[in-house]
Amino acid sequence: MKCSRCSREAVYFQRHSGRHLCRKHFVEDFIRRVKRNIRKYRMITRNERIAIAMSGGKDSVVLAHVLKSLYGDRRDIELVAITVDEGIANYRPPTVETAKEVCRELDIEHHIVSFRDEIGLELDEMVEKGERNACAYCGVFRKYLLNRTARELGANKLATGHNLDDETQTILLNFLQSDVERLARLIPSRVQEGLVLRIKPLREIYEKEVVLYALLHNLPVSLDECPYSRTPVRAVVRDFLYDFENRYPGRKFSVLRSFETLIPCLREMYPQIDLRRCEVCGEPTPKRVCQACELKAELGLLGPEVSEGNDTDQA
Ligand code: SF4
Ligand SMILES: [Zn+2]
Ligand SMILES: [Zn+2]
Repeated sequence: MKCSRCSREAVYFQRHSGRHLCRKHFVEDFIRRVKRNIRKYRMITRNERIAIAMSGGKDSVVLAHVLKSLYGDRRDIELVAITVDEGIANYRPPTVETAKEVCRELDIEHHIVSFRDEIGLELDEMVEKGERNACAYCGVFRKYLLNRTARELGANKLATGHNLDDETQTILLNFLQSDVERLARLIPSRVQEGLVLRIKPLREIYEKEVVLYALLHNLPVSLDECPYSRTPVRAVVRDFLYDFENRYPGRKFSVLRSFETLIPCLREMYPQIDLRRCEVCGEPTPKRVCQACELKAELGLLGPEVSEGNDTDQA
């Protein structure tokens, strides 16, 4: 099949636009959509130091490659990558190696922080010791370390590799579980002291396009899944969206657009809370003690008194 825009062989059929695209026009379209998304939310403007959350998985690897190709020549924009090693045996070590290799090849300053050194236990040990599931510890501590490390490195933005599939799954999941407050947390937030603004440059790119971009650029694509990833509800939503998109191409964009239309209402319903400093660690939090310190206390890594007297349960 020929490309719809030139006479080369197509490498991709873009169902939502009905076009066949060759390598050149696929990459051009990919980059154009990333740039449009960055502009729409003013994710990256001038004089920025951007920390890339670099797990070593395909999304973060592609994100680093795209940001390097877009901003590598800009003197006023610096890129730095942060890898959080949670301590998941057999799963995390290879992706940490991938992250190192990619950063070396792209010439991006790279920092690795681990749960073991920064929190006091590896994730595998937390799961054995604590009562919660792995993702509950992992999500809180990873977010905590990414924000703290990005800020300590002087970054003013923290870029994550969430793609269109991730975003639409989260939006729909929150609707289906009637968790509108959690839905409101997807709204781009305003600047607050101590909090590095998160940006998602790939949020309008399908996951399969991320994979194809990686393959076309010879970037590593790991298909390994985290051994703790058991989220049946999300898997059902993912499969539903996949099927729906297959029958009616472009519907993932419709989900995203509907969410964007609701943003002004959500902002009014859930205004952003002014953050204060955690009394234990000093990190920004809406509560007296941050969630990371609460979990540390639960795991016996801090005195138990820190979890007492928190006056709000908002995360
Ligand atoms: S699936 Fe694995 S990497 Fe993802 S949040 Fe859960 S424990 Fe962490
Ligand atoms: Zn072409
Ligand atoms: Zn704290």
